[in-house]
Amino acid sequence: MPQFADVAVLAPLGRALTYEVPAGMRLVPGQRVVCPLRGRQLLGVVLAVGVRPPSAPRRLQCIGAVVDEIPALPEELLRFMRELADYYIAPIGEVMRAALPAVERDKLANLRVPGELFALDRVDGARELTVRKVLYASATDAVEVPGTLRGQAAGVLALLRSHGELTVSRLEEHFGNARAALKKLETLGLVTLAQREREPDPYFTEAMPRDAPPELTEAQQHAASRILGALDGSLELKGFLLFGVTGSGKTEVYLRAIEATLAQGRGALVLVPEIALTPQLVARYRARFGDDVAVVHSGLSARDRHVMWTKLREGRVHVAIGARSALFSPVPSLGLVLVDEEHEATFKQEEGVRYHARDMALLRAHRAGAVIVLGSATPSLEAVELARRGKLEELRLPSRAHAGALLPEVTLVDLRRNRGGPSGERLLPLPMHRAIEATLAAGHQAILFLNRRGFAPSVVCEACGVVVTCPACSVALTYHRAGGGTLRCHYCDYATGHVKVCEACKAPALTLEGLGTEKLEEAIAKAFPAARVGRLDRDVAAGAEAEVVLDRMRNGELDILVGTQMVTKGHDLPRVTLVGVLNADAALSLPDFRAAERAFSLLVQVAGRAGRRDLRGRVLIQTRNPEHPAVAHAARHDVLGFIEKELAERREARYPPYFRLVLVRVDAVDEEVARAAAQDLGMRARVTAPVLDRRVEVLGPSAAPVARLRGRFRFRLMLRSADRKALRLVAVELASAAQHMDHRVRIVVDVDPVAML
Ligand code: ADP
Ligand code: ZN
Repeated sequence: MPQFADVAVLAPLGRALTYEVPAGMRLVPGQRVVCPLRGRQLLGVVLAVGVRPPSAPRRLQCIGAVVDEIPALPEELLRFMRELADYYIAPIGEVMRAALPAVERDKLANLRVPGELFALDRVDGARELTVRKVLYASATDAVEVPGTLRGQAAGVLALLRSHGELTVSRLEEHFGNARAALKKLETLGLVTLAQREREPDPYFTEAMPRDAPPELTEAQQHAASRILGALDGSLELKGFLLFGVTGSGKTEVYLRAIEATLAQGRGALVLVPEIALTPQLVARYRARFGDDVAVVHSGLSARDRHVMWTKLREGRVHVAIGARSALFSPVPSLGLVLVDEEHEATFKQEEGVRYHARDMALLRAHRAGAVIVLGSATPSLEAVELARRGKLEELRLPSRAHAGALLPEVTLVDLRRNRGGPSGERLLPLPMHRAIEATLAAGHQAILFLNRRGFAPSVVCEACGVVVTCPACSVALTYHRAGGGTLRCHYCDYATGHVKVCEACKAPALTLEGLGTEKLEEAIAKAFPAARVGRLDRDVAAGAEAEVVLDRMRNGELDILVGTQMVTKGHDLPRVTLVGVLNADAALSLPDFRAAERAFSLLVQVAGRAGRRDLRGRVLIQTRNPEHPAVAHAARHDVLGFIEKELAERREARYPPYFRLVLVRVDAVDEEVARAAAQDLGMRARVTAPVLDRRVEVLGPSAAPVARLRGRFRFRLMLRSADRKALRLVAVELASAAQHMDHRVRIVVDVDPVAML
């Protein structure tokens, strides 16, 4: 009697496939296998063994080979991924593909399957899996004979003693003769060299001395004890919303919770927004848990990813920290899940499988019987609503952890009444100018936040009023001065030389409009010639370079830091006493029902950068809408007041968290093709929805707010309901209809959408 197994082939198939298991092959769910599909050999993951074959009497193909003895996916994770795929109406193979590491090269070599193994991009990654060793140097306890060391040898030794272990290549960045110096130091017994597998960079390049946990504040103490109670099972509830103002010490609460989890022999998963995943953040966890920490991030090489996966899978490391995709980490016996800054929109994956890592963290924790903590200074309305419905317990940290650190004083500057100050720049009116002046005079630092990169956000014809737009997208091009002057699209990265003549009316009357960070930096440098000004945005700093700019700020080498969102997140810069928001209105006017919520949280977060220690901070928010709830409540640090008001509006306007949405995105190169497909789907939805007792509203289709993007015309259709099951039925119907439509059209069914543009 032949056996059968369901396999999720790592390909965009709508469902799992059933294969025959060859006699003598023993399979376990979660194992990776190689199986034939349309004449190719593909990697797949065994979902279930001993299943009944489909009733259709056709011969099933046989599984070709087993990749790993111990299943790559633990059962808990496998079940979770299946549920996730189901929830988002996504192909299970795609979910697996997003999560699984590459197959090791030696394993690949040993696989004997007929034909060539073809596994999309994953196998290519395997070529990177060859082990590369790296030379590490560390100081011994031996002491040199005084006066015997000179020059670089002395310098290298001093650095190793202060930093702990360093890689030789890192030492070479500082010392040209590092290798010769190390040889000498080694023969003197002052230094040891060791060849080891390279630790995954850049979070583990520096040795990290352990720190001593501080004494908790009363509020931290209470929060920690509730979470610890849930961990040891003395509380029934296992979910928490940690609502703590900026600088209130949420991380310390997380650290205590992780400590307790590890003490139980269980593992912890920490999710943070991509932008917050810095060596500085990881250092705080490493200082407490040393090598028991794995950092999962997009910059990992296939090999590092694999090393990380295996360490967690084999239970050699118990804490995984990472952004969105770390959600799929094989943390051993998962006991705790933490989502920091849970309100961040970046937890939503906007390509491929469009999952929300915060929502799915709740699901994974729930299924695994783990405790979950969502932390934020500006909780999402979704999280607040869960707390109100009793699904999460709310824990509050109402004041800053550092004794004496107070929340900053916030002043609104009405841009309608305050025109250009001494600099003449419209967005630098007198109050802002004076505040910067005073900050510099006191020897403190300032952060100026402007949500537009580039020099000028748009180029307009003075003769006919036409704005220069991207040839592929329906958005204005931004003028960048760097590199001789270019016009760039911030959506598709199109770039062209600066044009001088209007395309519409041929008048040579194009002028730059508005203020971007590039120009702001210049204006500030001109207005305050003695100040040292730095800039932080995607044009000057990505990843590690951002850290360099922030380090200069931290070390007092800069007086003013100008930048976009990148300046708003989590940085602890004690000498910053002024935060200026140059234009709060940009974020308020977006055609998105979450615009106010997002603007509010941005304002609170950026304000939270001021006065983090003993120095009292000041925040100036410039706006033309001082009465807007997002602005007015942020100015009063009134998070609860804002939430209350916004919740009432959402209920009224039938939006989340009271109603659920599914956004069906339709796009094509040809506008009519896209429109027709969208209308077709709209009709299908309307036919299906009444059957469901009118519990599902169908809105649209209509052109998307950004009507054309990367050369494709975009339409959207929205489904809305308070009834999740009914909504899902319509969404599934549309997703399956989409598979048989015009292949020139791309259709995405986005469950619980976040991006509305
Ligand atoms: P949050 O994540 O809530 O914004 P952090 O965890 O970054 O806050 O903490 C802010 C600062 O307060 C950090 O410098 C941290 O080291 C410090 N801190 C946290 N808890 C305590 C405590 N109990 N006593 C003293 N300092 C603390
Ligand atoms: Zn474009």
